[in-house]
Amino acid sequence: MNCCGAVAFAGSKLDRADHIRSDPERLAALKSPQASLLLLDGLAPGLDADNTLAWGRLKDAPEEAELVFLGLRGGFGCFAAVPAEGSTDPAYAPQEAMRRTWAALSLMSEEDLAIYGGARSLVDWHARHKFCAKCGAPTMLAKGGWQRNCVSENCAAEHFPRVDPVTIMLVEHEGNLLLGRQPRFPPRRFSALAGFVEPGEAIEEAVAREVFEEAGVRVRDVSYVSSQPWPFPSQLMIGCHAIAESAGLTIDTRELEEAHWFTREEIAAAMAGDESGRLLTPPSVAIAHHLLKWWLAK
Ligand SMILES: [Zn+2]
Repeated sequence: MNCCGAVAFAGSKLDRADHIRSDPERLAALKSPQASLLLLDGLAPGLDADNTLAWGRLKDAPEEAELVFLGLRGGFGCFAAVPAEGSTDPAYAPQEAMRRTWAALSLMSEEDLAIYGGARSLVDWHARHKFCAKCGAPTMLAKGGWQRNCVSENCAAEHFPRVDPVTIMLVEHEGNLLLGRQPRFPPRRFSALAGFVEPGEAIEEAVAREVFEEAGVRVRDVSYVSSQPWPFPSQLMIGCHAIAESAGLTIDTRELEEAHWFTREEIAAAMAGDESGRLLTPPSVAIAHHLLKWWLAK
C-alpha cells in the first residue's frame, strides 16, 4: 500500500535484536549508563518540548520496576519500565489518561508513534499478566520482556505477549462502499466494519462472518490489503476488501448505530476534507483512512 503513506504505529526504527533477548550476559551488558529509558506517564507518552518522545536513563527507572528491552538504537539498549497498573479495554480506560494520550499522539512523528505503540502494548501486557493463567502463581519477566514465566516449579508455564487479530474491511457493491458508525463515534463519522477474529477462523471467514453479523450482507472474494498494529491494547488490524452479493442491509444495532452505502464521489469528497456531505471519514491515524485512500486510488 505504498501509494498511501505509512500507517501509524508501524515502521519502528529500533533494531529488535531478538538474539540478545535470550542472552542474559549481553542483556545485562546493555543495561549500561548510556542505555535509554522511555519515559512514560502511566501508559501515556512523555514528550519533550519539541514533541519528541522523552527518553531518560535507566537510573531514572522506579526501583523494583521490571524493565523490558525494546531494542537497539545506535548500538545502545532502549528500555521501558512496566507500570504498576495496565489498561483495561480502552472504552473503560480512565478518560483523562486517554485524552492525554490522544493529545500527545497528534503531535508525534511517525517514527515516535511506532516506538511508543510497540512499547505501550508490551509494558501494558506485562502489567496485566503478573499471574499465571494456568495455575495462578506469580509470573516473572523473561527474555528481556518478550516472555513471562510462571514461578511455580510444578507449572513453569511460559507466556508470550499477545497480539489479537482484528479484521477491518471495505465491502463493495456496484462501485459503492459499505461504512458504518458506532454510537461512540463523533456525529457523521463513518468507518469500515471491523471485528475480532475468533478461534478456528481464517481471516476470510472472519470478514464474512462479521459483515453478515453486523450488516446482514453476504460477501465473496475477500482479499488482503494491508495491516496496522493498534496499541489499545494490542490488536493487529488486518485490512481487507470484499465484494457484497447484494445491497440489502440488516443492521445489528447492538454493534452499529447506522450503516449505509456511500458512492465513490461522496467518499472522495469527504477524504478531500469536504464536511458538507453526510459523511466524515476516519482520521489518518486509523487504518480505515488508509484503506479508503487505497480504494479511491485503485
Ligand atoms: Zn503457572
